[in-house]
Amino acid sequence: TFEPLASDFYGYETLLTDEEKGALAALRSYLESEVKPVVNGHWEKATHPDGIMKGLAGTGAFSFAWDETRPFENSAVFRGFVALELARVDASIATLVGVQNGLAMGSISVTGSPEQRAEWLPRMASGEIVGAFGLTEPTSGSDSAQGLRTTATREGDEWVLNGSKRWIGNATFSDITVIWAKDAEDGQVKGFIVPTSTPGYSATKIENKQSLRIVQNADITLEGVRVPESLRLQNANSFRDTAKVLRLTRAEVAWAAVGNSVGAYEAALRYARERVQFGKPIASHQLVQDLLVKSIGNITASLGMVVRVSQMLDDGTQKDEHSALAKAYTTARMRETVAWCREALGGNGIVLDYDVARHFADAEALYSYEGTREMNTLIVGRSITGFAAFV
Ligand code: FAD
Repeated sequence: TFEPLASDFYGYETLLTDEEKGALAALRSYLESEVKPVVNGHWEKATHPDGIMKGLAGTGAFSFAWDETRPFENSAVFRGFVALELARVDASIATLVGVQNGLAMGSISVTGSPEQRAEWLPRMASGEIVGAFGLTEPTSGSDSAQGLRTTATREGDEWVLNGSKRWIGNATFSDITVIWAKDAEDGQVKGFIVPTSTPGYSATKIENKQSLRIVQNADITLEGVRVPESLRLQNANSFRDTAKVLRLTRAEVAWAAVGNSVGAYEAALRYARERVQFGKPIASHQLVQDLLVKSIGNITASLGMVVRVSQMLDDGTQKDEHSALAKAYTTARMRETVAWCREALGGNGIVLDYDVARHFADAEALYSYEGTREMNTLIVGRSITGFAAFV
C-alpha cells in the first residue's frame, strides 16, 4: 500500500492515480529491502550491486516512459516521482536508471525509426540489453553541440566511427552504447547504436570518483568501429535532435535532485529527533529547526517546479528552457539542502553510515552532469533575452 511521503509537504503526490501510486509503492518496497541496505557498502567500494539492472527492470523503472514498453498509461509527474524515489534512496541508482531509461532508451525512442524502437526498446525495458549514452568527450563537455571530434564516415552501407568519449555512465558493462558523432561529410551530429562487442570499441572504468561512486563511468575509445546504416538513429540529423533527448532527461535530473535532497532531509530529521544535547533532542533547538525548515522549504519549492515542468511535458508545452531552468534551480537548491542536513548531524554528518555524507557528495555530480548550472542558465538566458551567450 502507498504511504504518502511526509517530505512531500504540500501533497503533490495527490496528483497521482491509484495505479501510479501502486507502482510507486512497489518500487519503494524494492528499494527499501534490496537496495538501501547495501548502498553505503557499494558506494565505499565504488561497485554496484549484482543483478541491479534486472532488479530495477522488474520494478518497471525502465519501461514507464515509452509507447512500446509502457505497462499502463501514466503521467510525466508519476515518472518524476519514480526518479525522486530512486534518488531518495541513492542518487547513483537513480543515475543508472536515468542512463538506461532516459538517455539510452530516450535516444532510440526520440530519434529512432519505428523499426529501431520496436527492435530495441522492449529488450532494454526488460533489462536484457543494457545501454549507455556517449556524447561527452575528453575535449568537449559543455560545448558538445559544436565541439565533438568523434567522426562518422559513410562507406557504402556502413559507417566508420573514430574518436573518444569520456564520463559515459554504465559503459563498463553496457551491451550497446549510443554514440554521437559528427558526419565527416555534412558536419552534423548523428547518433549510432553501437554494440559494445564491435571490433575497435573499448571502454575503461574511470577510477577515484568522489561522487556517485556506485555509477560505473568509462572512457571509451573508438578506432575504426564499423556499424551498418541500420544502426544509425534514423531521425537524428543534427544536434537539435540530440537536444530533444536532453530536454527530457534534464527534467528527470531535476526530479532526482529533489529526491537526493529528500534522502538527506529524512536522515537529518530522524537523527535530530534522536540525538540529545543540552538535555534534549537537538530537534527541539531553534537553530536546528531552522536547518530542517530551510531544507523542507527548498524541497517544497523545487517539487512545485518539477511537477509543473512534467505537466508541461504531458501538455506538449515543455521547451528546452523549461527543463533547463528546473535542472539549474533544483540542483542549486539541493546543494544548499544537503549542506544544511549534513550540518544538522555535526561530526556524524561526514560518516558514510549516517547516509547524509553520501547524499552530500553525490549532489556534486548531479549539479554538473546533463549540463552544468552555467550551461542551463545560458539556455534560459537565450530564451528570455533573445541573445545566445554561449561563445
Ligand atoms: P566543462 O565543459 O569543461 O566545464 C567546466 C566549467 O566551465 C563548468 O563550470 C562550466 O559550466 C564552465 N563553462 C564552460 N563553458 C562555459 C561558458 N560558455 N560560459 C560559462 N561557463 C562555462 N556524459 C555523457 O555523454 N554520458 C554520460 O553518461 C555521462 N555521465 C556522467 C556522469 C558523471 C558522474 C559526470 C561527472 C559526468 C557525466 N557526463 C556524461 C558528462 C557531463 O555531462 C559533463 O561533465 C558536463 O556536461 C560538463 O562538461 P565538462 O565536465 O567537460 O566540463
